Amino acid sequence: MNKTKYIFITGGVVSSLGKGIAASSIGALLEARGLNITMQKLDPYINVDPGTMNPFQHGEVFVTDDGAETDLDLGHYERFTSLSLTKKNNLTSGQVYDAVINNERKGTYLGKTVQVIPHITDEIKKRIIEASDGKDVAIIEIGGTVGDIESLPFLEAIRQFKLDKGKDNVLYIHLTLVPFIKTADELKTKPTQHSVKELRAIGIEPSIIICRADRVLPQDIREKIALFCNVEADAVITAKDEESIYDVPLSLHKEKLDSKIIEYLNIWAKSPDLNEWTNISETLKTLKNLVTIAVVGKYVNLKESYKSLNESLIHGGLANNVSVNIKYINSEDFEADDWKERLKELEGCSGILVPGGFGSRGINGMLKAINYARSSNIPYFGICLGMQLMTVEYARNVLGLKEANSYEFDEITPDPVISIMDDQKDIGNMGGTMRLGAYPCVISKNTLAYQIYYKNNKKYSADNKNSVKLNHDGNISISERHRHRFEFNNKYREKFKASGFVFSGVSPDDKLIEICELKDHPWYIGCQFHPEFKSSPLYPHPLFKEFIAAALRYSNALIGVQTKVKTKNKNKVKDKKRKTAAA
Ligand code: GLN
Repeated sequence: MNKTKYIFITGGVVSSLGKGIAASSIGALLEARGLNITMQKLDPYINVDPGTMNPFQHGEVFVTDDGAETDLDLGHYERFTSLSLTKKNNLTSGQVYDAVINNERKGTYLGKTVQVIPHITDEIKKRIIEASDGKDVAIIEIGGTVGDIESLPFLEAIRQFKLDKGKDNVLYIHLTLVPFIKTADELKTKPTQHSVKELRAIGIEPSIIICRADRVLPQDIREKIALFCNVEADAVITAKDEESIYDVPLSLHKEKLDSKIIEYLNIWAKSPDLNEWTNISETLKTLKNLVTIAVVGKYVNLKESYKSLNESLIHGGLANNVSVNIKYINSEDFEADDWKERLKELEGCSGILVPGGFGSRGINGMLKAINYARSSNIPYFGICLGMQLMTVEYARNVLGLKEANSYEFDEITPDPVISIMDDQKDIGNMGGTMRLGAYPCVISKNTLAYQIYYKNNKKYSADNKNSVKLNHDGNISISERHRHRFEFNNKYREKFKASGFVFSGVSPDDKLIEICELKDHPWYIGCQFHPEFKSSPLYPHPLFKEFIAAALRYSNALIGVQTKVKTKNKNKVKDKKRKTAAA
């Protein structure tokens, strides 16, 4: 049987150093060396999961196939590796305490005093072991920054791990910041020294220190850090600021991080095959075209809220050799008195996307953007809420159901085109009514959705975690991740269909609408699920790939029209000159 080796990654000095990206890159490098890995995030907050947390505060909620609402770092893990994670891969203090308190109530601890050590720490260790079962290497990232009171039980648990599992099987990696102070013209190692000191005070001695810096650390700085932090000089690794997060695996490999890891963990692994990462990195540097995509939503001020969406658009660009300029627009801008003027912001865009969201704020602005996309023939992509509003807009402005709405925003609308299913209505607890995780969808032939998935089927499904199946009856079956409460109301299906609205994807029992589109529009599609949770740079999601392709066609056509107008104008001027010269 395999003996799992454990890598624990902690962070120091400041937050936002890219610990999740560093951990994911280590995952990518170890997989490239043929190792069977898993990844786990330990989050010190008391919430049981981030599902109920405000996206402004916490960023995106990532959803796994098994319906866990997790920290957004799991999105990075999945994008950088071949992993399809589950609820086991994200552990919060809330979950740990919840389990321990439940055990105490059940009498599991036989009347003992229940304490942080050993009860909480044992529960943490148990869950790390459960999530790593059968893997060669488990990479475990500890959220927060060393020095936070909240993360202490996690740090204590991982300290004990080395005693439990032996020193060859456990490796601590610490990520810090080495700032360059302009006025002194010097790189500063003191914050790193302090952070490592703090970690050592609680009994954890990191063997590798990854230093985030704006430049590659010179040898003397490495040696200084090595001396003061008690590590080998070649275990001081620079994590240089890179233009793209997808350059990080290569950049850390250049620093020999992966060889140092396998040396310390005493594992045999082949030399890494990094061709695919090299391709991505090179493609990103030589992208030929540029398209601007407007993302009209409500959490636009915090980019972290749309993390996976942002990345998926970049993947779509990569697949088309296009650089994607994402223009985040607050939908409330289109609700102001001068909304017509503001809507002009969309004129220069080659695609409009309305992402997922909850609550009524900004809805009318989104509807205006959708109406603009439909009537101006600009490629439109609606995700979850963006798909639901696509049907509301259509009902109001094409079917003449002026007060049509989603039940979420208007409980007494005469036309709830988006509603809550009857069997959901009885459940008092709103959390319980969410449709979460992977659900199958069947796509009908002769639709845009069919073309999109069919065309990209091979490349996309080459990754074992993405399944696109061609069925005997000619349809396609897919599986996509969901996170929503409301659904398209089947009472309106026929009415929509009769006027050219197409329901191209449905649940296998035909009860739920999953994808809809419009026939007489170049690219107008909405999906009830979240394709952004299943896209990666190596395997761009077909919907994002084709959305960017459509945006590029639109932009080229626009340039074509503009150059035609310009040449026409130029010719006019020439004609005039000729005429005047002749006269
Ligand atoms: N608020 C909508 C619902 O609950 C859409 C959710 C979403 O976009 N994720 O159904």
